[in-house]
Amino acid sequence: MGRKFFVGGNWKCNGTGEEVKKIVSMLNEGEVPSDDVVEVVVSPPFVFLPVVKSLLRSDFHVAAQNCWVRKGGAFTGEVSAEMLVNLGIPWVILGHSERRALLNESNEFVGDKVAYALSQGLKVIACVGETLEQRESGSTMAVVAAQTKAIAEQVSNWANVVLAYEPVWAIGTGKVATPAQAQEVHCELRKWLQGNAGAEVAATTRIIYGGSVNGANCKELAAKPDVDGFLVGGASLKPEFIDIIKSAT
Ligand code: PGA
Repeated sequence: MGRKFFVGGNWKCNGTGEEVKKIVSMLNEGEVPSDDVVEVVVSPPFVFLPVVKSLLRSDFHVAAQNCWVRKGGAFTGEVSAEMLVNLGIPWVILGHSERRALLNESNEFVGDKVAYALSQGLKVIACVGETLEQRESGSTMAVVAAQTKAIAEQVSNWANVVLAYEPVWAIGTGKVATPAQAQEVHCELRKWLQGNAGAEVAATTRIIYGGSVNGANCKELAAKPDVDGFLVGGASLKPEFIDIIKSAT
């Protein structure tokens, strides 16, 4: 099957110019497995994308944290997929739960964004995940399936999509999903892809886990057969991000 391990660092809305340069130096000095084994993508805020891209080692790549749903134009405050392509930014994170919750991004809107970004040649880290309330009411799979369906309805070629399962209750809380909990949802998501997008897509699409991943818990999570990597928030700003990258082997 050969799904290459994928580690994304989501810096969210953090950092000054100085801090960003320090993080890049830390990354550039890190000894990690080769990019044949692990794909590393870090996602600074928009304003730092050019500097990070210019300073970052060439075996790591950069992602934006969002982009506009269609072609640019009169959309004050937005950044278009075309602009990211123009700057040579290969990846974008879409559908992060913080945007779904705080900015009311619906499943359909996220599906539209994923389709448009792909059509412009970007690669997409598409995020799905349930809230604690949804998990406790037993609707985890229904929620993540509906979020994935809104993407699948618009996307036929999954080659440039990484699916990130990020339970909302685990994000930034220090309350990581157990390896068994992550594996269960990843396995169900893969089955969902098999049924709805085909066996090839199910076998080849990376499904990564996000939510309080750190240097101490990554190994056990990475050992699960359907966990193909991580999307890391808080720990991606720290030296332990290197340890998380190393969990690829
Ligand atoms: P966290 O964030 O690692 O700080 O929990 C993960 C994310 O939001 O992608």
